[in-house]
Amino acid sequence: MIPFNRPHLTGKEMLYIQEAVASGKISGDGTFSQKCHEYFENRFKFKKVLLTTSCTDALEMAAILLDIKPGDEVIAPSFTFVSSVNAFALRGARIVFVDSSHDHPNIDANKIESLITSKTKAIIAVHYAGVACDMSSIMALSRKYGIYVVEDAAQAIDSYFNGQPLGGIGHLGAFSFHETKNIISGEGGMLVINEEHFIERAEIIREKGTNRSLFFRGQVDKYSWVDIGSSFLPSDIIAAFLYAQLENLDRIQNRRKTIWQHYQDNLSELVNFGVKLPSVYDYATNNYHMFYLICNSLDERTKLISHLKQRDILAVFHYQSLHNSQYYQDKHDGRLLPEADNYSNVLIRLPFFYDLSETQVDYISNAILEFYKNQNAV
Ligand SMILES: *Cc1c(COP(=O)(O)O)cnc(C)c1O
Repeated sequence: MIPFNRPHLTGKEMLYIQEAVASGKISGDGTFSQKCHEYFENRFKFKKVLLTTSCTDALEMAAILLDIKPGDEVIAPSFTFVSSVNAFALRGARIVFVDSSHDHPNIDANKIESLITSKTKAIIAVHYAGVACDMSSIMALSRKYGIYVVEDAAQAIDSYFNGQPLGGIGHLGAFSFHETKNIISGEGGMLVINEEHFIERAEIIREKGTNRSLFFRGQVDKYSWVDIGSSFLPSDIIAAFLYAQLENLDRIQNRRKTIWQHYQDNLSELVNFGVKLPSVYDYATNNYHMFYLICNSLDERTKLISHLKQRDILAVFHYQSLHNSQYYQDKHDGRLLPEADNYSNVLIRLPFFYDLSETQVDYISNAILEFYKNQNAV
């Protein structure tokens, strides 16, 4: 079976984990956490980053930092992962879902403004497949109405909007190092803080609501409970694994690019069958997180998935629109979001991981072409 994902190891993970263990300090914010923080702050010029145990945690930190409370409204795409919005629902916010664009699964930035009310506190910009949302429109709305922007950059490491690194554009950004992303640590994440005034409180929220970080830097003489928070920081063992990956970011990205382009070359003729390949806006870069196809119908996608499964290829669909979810359907205001529903029904993700060989990409591509050519012949 060709799996949908297989975690790639760079070779130094175990060595760095051993180093972390031998150092005698394996709780959070040890040597490797520091190295990871410096890596992101140097390479992407992020003002301040804090490793977390997941992107979900980073988003929950963001919701606390922005003082989201019952009665607030948060605008977000419906075609996204639960965590993008659950973090805000946890604080009592009402989620106002927006449709996707016709030409990309990302939020349709043109549909946001009419949904802004005096209760709107934040817009969640999710960069699907690592491809940037229209951040200039979203940031313009943010300035016009005084609304925060949180980037769910879970899939968006090393990807850019008009040259600016994703995660570094909104007020806050959240990354994931889950084993399905480009750079991994099993589970793992990071909060990016792009506004100076949030930094001190972010450190407090991440340390169970205590000013422990200030204490360790000698800025206060004892540490105490000063705010709400939780335990959001990962062990240095996880940071050690992550650092081994980060050192290889360029190599990993280059390999993913080769695989992505190979799929693209093999499958470009699918447009003749009405199938769409991934699109990248002019203002965005591709970070080669995912290769997906937009089929013509749910029925076609279902058949394609089983056609591939019979050939030992695991291709998978993606999000089911959240406005229709069991938890939210009664809370949603009833607006139809046809593009989001369409992506739920017709988007298929192909196996995509560092160690996927060219031969395997050819095998998968041929199986897909065979499906469409035969189906068409019928
Ligand atoms: C993976 C992902 C998350 C969740 O990341 P975790 O690190 O597993 O919490 C959130 N949002 C998006 C868009 C994702 O792809």
